[in-house]
Amino acid sequence: MRLDLENLAETPSNEIPGFYEGLVEALPSLESHHCSPGCRGGFLMRVKEGTMMGHIIEHVALELQELASMPAAFGRTRETATPGVYQVVFEYENEEAGRYAGRAAVRLCQSIADRGRYPKAELEQDLQDLRDFAKEGALGPSTEAIVKEAEKKGIPWMTLGARFLIQLGYGAASKRIQATMTNNTGILGVELACDKEATKRILASSGIPVPKGTVINFLDDLQEAIEFVGGYPIVIKPLDGNHGRGITIDIRSWDEAESAYDAARQVSRAVIVEKYYVGRDHRVLVVDGKVVAVAERVPAHVVGDGKSTISELIEETNNDPNRGEGHDKVLTKIELDRTSYQLLERQGLTLNSVLPKDRICYLRATANLSTGGIAVDRTDEIHPENIWLAQRVVRVIGLDIAGMDVVTSDISRPLRETDGVIVEVNAAPGFRMHIAPSHGTPRNVAGAVVDMLFKNEQASRVPILSVTGTNGKTTTTRLLAHIFRQTSKVVGYTTTDGTYIGDYLVEAGDNTGPQSAQLILQDPTVEVAVLETARGGILRSGLAFEASNVGVVLNVAADHLGLGDIDTIDQLGHLKSVVAEAVYPDGYAVLNADDPRVAAMAEKTKANIAYFTMKSDSQLVRDHIQKGGVAALYENGYISILKGDWTHRIEKVENIPLTMGGRAPFMIANALAASLAAFVQNVNIEQIRAGLTTFRASVSQTPGRMNLFNLGNYHALIDYAHNPHSYEALGSFVRNWTTGQRIGVVGGPGDRRDEDFVMLGKLAADIFDRVIIKEDDDTRGRQRGSAAELILKGIKQVKPNFTYETILDETQAINKALEGAPDNSLVVILPESVNRAIQLIKARGVVKEETQQT
Ligand code: ATP
Ligand code: ATP
Ligand code: MG
Ligand code: MG
Repeated sequence: MRLDLENLAETPSNEIPGFYEGLVEALPSLESHHCSPGCRGGFLMRVKEGTMMGHIIEHVALELQELASMPAAFGRTRETATPGVYQVVFEYENEEAGRYAGRAAVRLCQSIADRGRYPKAELEQDLQDLRDFAKEGALGPSTEAIVKEAEKKGIPWMTLGARFLIQLGYGAASKRIQATMTNNTGILGVELACDKEATKRILASSGIPVPKGTVINFLDDLQEAIEFVGGYPIVIKPLDGNHGRGITIDIRSWDEAESAYDAARQVSRAVIVEKYYVGRDHRVLVVDGKVVAVAERVPAHVVGDGKSTISELIEETNNDPNRGEGHDKVLTKIELDRTSYQLLERQGLTLNSVLPKDRICYLRATANLSTGGIAVDRTDEIHPENIWLAQRVVRVIGLDIAGMDVVTSDISRPLRETDGVIVEVNAAPGFRMHIAPSHGTPRNVAGAVVDMLFKNEQASRVPILSVTGTNGKTTTTRLLAHIFRQTSKVVGYTTTDGTYIGDYLVEAGDNTGPQSAQLILQDPTVEVAVLETARGGILRSGLAFEASNVGVVLNVAADHLGLGDIDTIDQLGHLKSVVAEAVYPDGYAVLNADDPRVAAMAEKTKANIAYFTMKSDSQLVRDHIQKGGVAALYENGYISILKGDWTHRIEKVENIPLTMGGRAPFMIANALAASLAAFVQNVNIEQIRAGLTTFRASVSQTPGRMNLFNLGNYHALIDYAHNPHSYEALGSFVRNWTTGQRIGVVGGPGDRRDEDFVMLGKLAADIFDRVIIKEDDDTRGRQRGSAAELILKGIKQVKPNFTYETILDETQAINKALEGAPDNSLVVILPESVNRAIQLIKARGVVKEETQQT
C-alpha cells in the first residue's frame, strides 16, 4: 500500500491527543504485537512514545485480519523519497481480505486521529466483512489439510480458479487435487464406489463380507425384499446417496419400513433394502494402498446432567465453537430430522424430557459427522487381518484414496469373527474425522496423500531460470530457451514480447511479470521454465515463485529511475537482487562479474555463485575459480566455461550469429550468461554449442533487437536501446562499423528524466557521424519538442559543431535518413514502433536480413 499521510506527515502518534487511548480502546488485542521492543505490548509502547502513522496502519491491518481468524504476522513500513508518503507492506492470507484490511486500517486510524475513537459498530462491520471474504475464499477442511502439508514440505501450490481444483507443484511435474480426489483417481473407481449395489456385488464376488441386501424400484416389492434379507431389523437407503441422506436403519416394523422407503425414494429412484448389522460404525481410510487411519464414528448424541431437557442439551452442545455449519469446522451442529423423533420415541423420550445424569441419548441413527456425529481415533486398534482386508477392498474397487465404512462390534477382531460388514466404499472421503478426532490421536492423513503424489519435494518442480538486468533480458531469455530446446525438453518462456511454450506463441504482450510466469509454471506440458523477470512486475507483485533454480542478473544501469519509488541506481540494484536472492540454496545465482552492483549480490544470496566476465583477467573470477567455483568468460575469441582446473571452450564468438561476428560485445556478454546458466543446470557442452550457433537474432525471433538489414549499397540497423547503458552497448557495435558513415535516428520515451535525454545526446554525438533527432508519437506527458531540445543540449556539450537535424515525426525522420544514406553507410534507428520501422525499411527493398555475420 502506498500511503500518503497528508496532514499527519509530520506528526508522530504521541503528538495526536488521545490517539494512544483511542487505539487501545478500539483494538485492545494490539497488546499482543511485539514489534521492535520484542516483547508483549512492545508495539503499543511505540505508539505511546511516538511512531509514524504508516507503521500503526500496518499493525492495525494485521490485527484486523487476526481478529477475523486469518492470522497474518509480517509487516514493514518504509518512507519513500516523497515526504509524507510511505510504502506499507503487510501479509494476508486472502488477497481481497488483505486489501480490505488495509483500507479499514486507514479508516480506523483516521477516525481515532480525528475524533479519538472508532465506533464499535463499524469495527464489528469490518470484521464481519473480513470474515465473509475468508469464508468465500476458504478451502474445504480436507483440501486445506493437503495444501498445508504441501507447504510444510516445500511443495508449491496454486488454485486453478475452477471446480475447486488445486495444483500442487509446477509444470510437467505438477499434480492436481480436488478435495480428496487426485489426478490419479480413476473415474471407474469413483463411479463404482458411488454405486453401492455394484460395489457390494463386486466385493461379495471377491469373498468380502458385505450386508445381505437387494435393490427395489417399487413399494410393491418391499415385502418380498424384507423376507429376502431375513426379516427385521433392516436398513433402507437410497441407491446413490451420501452424507447419510435418506437412510433409515434398525427398522423393526412394516410402518417404519414404509415411511423409510418414502424417505429413500426422495433421494434416489432405486432403493436398497439391507439386513441391519448391529455394531459400531468405523471409517477406514486407505491412501496409496495402505490403511492410514481408522476412526469410529459415534452418532449425534447428548449426555444427561440430571437438570436440563434434551432440547437444552442440544443447544448447549451446538454452542461448542468447534461446531459449525456443514463442513466448515471440525464438527457439525446437531440437527434433528424425522429419524431423530423416531429414535426419541423408541427411547420413550421427547425433546422436553429431562435426561438423568450420564445417560446417553442418541439423536441420529447414522454416525455421519455431517449430521452432528463425533469421531474417535481407532487407528492403533484395528486388527491386522482387517487391515489386509481393507487394503484389498480398495484395490478391488480401484481407488488411490478411499474411505471404507465398516460396521462391527469390535474393530480389533477380524470381521469374520464379529459378523462385521463393509457397508460401502467412499471416493473423496472427508479427512476431518482423522485430522481432528474428538477423542484419540490426530492422524496426518494429508501427509500420506502428498507423499503419494510426490516422492520428494524436488519431484514436484521443474527447473526455473529467472533472468533480470537492465538490458539484455529478452535476448538472454530467448537464447537460454533456445539452448534448452537442444535438450528436447519443452521450454516455457516469458519475454517482453510474449509468452511462449515450445515453438509457439501462447500470448503476445509485455509478459515479464508474475502473472505470465504463473501461466508457464501452471502449464502441465512445460518441462523447463525460463522467465524474463522485469523490475515492474517485481515491484507490483513480486515473483511468481518462492525460489528459482538459477537466477541470472545481467547488469544494473540507470533506467526507469523515478518510477515506482525507485529513485537511485542503488535502489534499482537492490530491487534486482531479489532475483539472485530467491534461488534455492542448491541452485545458482549467475552474476556479471564486470558490474560491481551485480557482483556484490553474491553477498546476499544463499545459493551457489557462478560469474561471467568479458575480461579474461578478472581477478574476482580468477579467485572464484581458484576456490573451485564455476564461471564463464570470453577469452581468445572464445566463450569458455571454467570449473576447477578445467576450461571448456564452447564456441568461437565468430560462429555465434547473435554476436554479429563478434562485433557486438554486449551480445557476447549475454551469450556468456546464457551458456553459464544452462551449464549449471547440467546441459551438456554440445547442446550449449548447438544452441549458440543456431540462435539468430532475426526480426522474427527478436524484433527490435539488433536487426540488421542489407539494403544493397548501405545497411540499416533497428534496435530498441532506450537507456544510456544500452546506447553504450549499441555504440560498441556501431564504432566497429568502419566501412562508411554512421547515421543515427535517435529519441526516447518521454517519461525518462531530463538528464537521460541529455546523456543520450552526448552518447549520440560520440557514436555517430551525424544524427536526426526525432520524438515518439506518444510523448508520455512531455511537451512536444522538449525531449529533442534536451538531446540537442547533450550533443552540443560534447561536439558543438556536430551535424544534426531535428525531425520530430518518426516516420519522416526515418525516411529522410534512409533516402540520404551514402554508399557503405550504416543507418541506426532507435524507433518507438519497431514494426513501423521494419515496414519502412522493407519498403525500400531489403536485399538480405543480415543478422548473421560469418
Ligand atoms: P456416507 O457417505 O456419509 O458415509 P452414506 O449416506 O453413503 O454415508 P452409508 O455409508 O451407506 O450411507 O450408511 C451410513 C451409515 O449407516 C453407515 O456408516 C452405518 O453406520 C449405517 N449403516 C448403513 N447400512 C447399514 C447396515 N446394513 N447395517 C448396519 N448399519 C448400517
Ligand atoms: P526491456 O527492459 O525493454 O525488456 P531487455 O532487458 O529485455 O529490455 P533486450 O530486449 O534483450 O533487453 O535488449 C534491448 C536492447 O538493450 C538491445 O537491443 C541492446 O541495444 C541492448 N542490450 C542487450 N543486451 C545488453 C547488455 N548485455 N548490455 C547492455 N546493453 C544490452
Ligand atoms: Mg457411508
Ligand atoms: Mg525485455
